[in-house]
Amino acid sequence: TTSKSDYIWFNGEMVEWANAKVHVMSHALHYGSSVFEGIRCYDTHKGPAVFRHREHMQRLHDSAKIYRMPIAYSADELMASTRATLVKNNLTSAYIRPLVFIGDVGMGVNPKEGYKTDVIIAAFPWGAYLGEDALEQGINAMVSSWNRAAPNTIPTAAKAGGNYLSSLLVGNEARRLGFQEGIALDVNGYVSEGAGENIFLVKNGILFTPTLTSAALPGITRDAILTLAKDIGIEIREQTLSRESLYLADEVFMTGTAAEITPVRSIDGIQIGIGRRGAVTTKIQQAFFGLFNGQTEDKYGWLDLVKP
Ligand code: PMP
Repeated sequence: TTSKSDYIWFNGEMVEWANAKVHVMSHALHYGSSVFEGIRCYDTHKGPAVFRHREHMQRLHDSAKIYRMPIAYSADELMASTRATLVKNNLTSAYIRPLVFIGDVGMGVNPKEGYKTDVIIAAFPWGAYLGEDALEQGINAMVSSWNRAAPNTIPTAAKAGGNYLSSLLVGNEARRLGFQEGIALDVNGYVSEGAGENIFLVKNGILFTPTLTSAALPGITRDAILTLAKDIGIEIREQTLSRESLYLADEVFMTGTAAEITPVRSIDGIQIGIGRRGAVTTKIQQAFFGLFNGQTEDKYGWLDLVKP
């Protein structure tokens, strides 16, 4: 799969991919001052549709609000621009990357009162983030030596560019040591999340996931899975989880827009359950991917058709 397309929506205009450039003195480049989203468009039985489009654009606005960053476009306007970007690029399935950043506003950490942000929306083809066969075979993960940010330091509810320095440390350590992904603990030593995914475990048929107070991003896939699991009669518990509860779980999987629902077959070299995708994970995957082929009813209106 390629990770390019023809046009990027840039402050209200369609700009050719190669010409969508910023200045090297851009604030975000120096200080990490950007907020962004990762969204998927699926080629569904009803036609191309953006999954939980409004929730993603709302989270983008929420991330900006935490940092008091202005956005000149409402969630509705951003959604319309995303649909236009997909159409312009002839994409039926895509990964979508909206980004709001403080651009070339002059040096200094504090931009002048009344500054404006720059906004882009890129959309391009992107397959399974952790590999196609990972969705079935699972991945080998490790608990990182790096913790997630402490409360009241870097806010983990914001999907901000700077936060991804943590993901870079966690994900890079794992890959360097021969694992496919890293799992971070919070500052209290409880399970938080993967470098770019939320995490779930299954024990005795009950589905567990860390509370968001364990420094995890409020994942939209996480929320979808909690909703779908409840609908299919799986008991769910959001609670603090110890590192060792991962080792003793029957099943572990990671969730995210990019990673979708990826089973974890081992952690720190310890086999989890049967060492491949388990029964509950399979059921949840079917419910999730069923949304895109019609086998699961879209009863919450999660599909935003690109061409209604
Ligand atoms: N945690 C982190 C750190 C992430 O980057 C992501 C991907 N956005 C997630 C969790 C999963 O969030 P979502 O399901 O909304 O993509």
